[in-house]
Amino acid sequence: MRTIVTGGAGFIGSHLVDHLLRAGDEVVVLDDMSTGSPRNLLDSLVDPRLTIVHGSVLDRRLLLETIRGADRVFHLAAAVGVKLIVDHPLTSLRVNIHGTENVLDACGETGAALLLVSTSEIYGKNTSDRLHENSDRVLGSPLRSRWTYAAAKGIDEAFAHAYWSEHGLDVTIVRPFNTVGPRQTGRYGMVVPNLVGQALRGEPLTVYGDGDQTRCFSYVGDVVPAMVRLLEEPSATGDAFNLGGAEEVSINSLARRVIRVTGSSSDVVHVDYADAYAAGFEDMRRRVPDYSKAAALVGFDPATHLDEIIRRVADDLRSDRSRDGAGLPA
Ligand code: UDP
Repeated sequence: MRTIVTGGAGFIGSHLVDHLLRAGDEVVVLDDMSTGSPRNLLDSLVDPRLTIVHGSVLDRRLLLETIRGADRVFHLAAAVGVKLIVDHPLTSLRVNIHGTENVLDACGETGAALLLVSTSEIYGKNTSDRLHENSDRVLGSPLRSRWTYAAAKGIDEAFAHAYWSEHGLDVTIVRPFNTVGPRQTGRYGMVVPNLVGQALRGEPLTVYGDGDQTRCFSYVGDVVPAMVRLLEEPSATGDAFNLGGAEEVSINSLARRVIRVTGSSSDVVHVDYADAYAAGFEDMRRRVPDYSKAAALVGFDPATHLDEIIRRVADDLRSDRSRDGAGLPA
């Protein structure tokens, strides 16, 4: 099996690459290394079945050359992270719309099967109890840059679905909800690596706003095998699947747990949103997945407990492989 992973040097992508190599695939990573890093692939770099192509999904010719001859494509290359998106809305729109359009065109031309990695962010401000795949999208203003990501990924999904219904493209969509684990960087705002890093450095943990907003964190090691099984499941084609965590936690309780699990003596500080809002940010109060469809079809089970996830993230940040670990006590 020859498999392409766009964004394969990123957080989720690199775990997927390790998984595919273990399963016996020949893997080609296409990554522009903008937010990803070869460091994430240290476990697999010596494997002769791994090829890394340094390039962008915006480069149509390179993309087509890379995908030609492949059986399947996992498309994870994207501009991600709330901070990056708020700071660079044009990149968010260009990479996430045109990059995906190019991947769809290349798969259409070559016949490769495609897993499109979308996002729970497409539900926007919908705070319903258990967001089902058919739940409404409640998007914020297009003039707020935070929503560029959700808008772009929504277009990607619509594009993929149209390609499937009009041309029979073998494409499946997944929507990860706050996937976390080792190798995720806190540089672009992600809360778990941010808070764990602060706790290990003995700095105050920065909780934005009142901290009562909630998320359901899922472990990358639970999400990645489900992505592969969904692409391999014929009846999943043309459909979308939530992949999220089982436990709803407030960011306040996440911060307390990070302090307890890491044994840190840090305090929690509440950071005012005012500056961030002025820069185009807007928070979501609640985001809870209904992942029963993926559970029923491919046995998706987000079994890894949040305390264990925090422990593994802390171990990773303490290791000398970590990109964000510099200056941490061993
Ligand atoms: N957050 C926080 N402190 C941080 C980073 C994030 O309190 O240092 C909050 C953020 O406001 C949001 C939640 O944690 O309510 C999750 O943020 P993240 O950027 O990880 O994911 P998303 O907002 O996309 O769910």
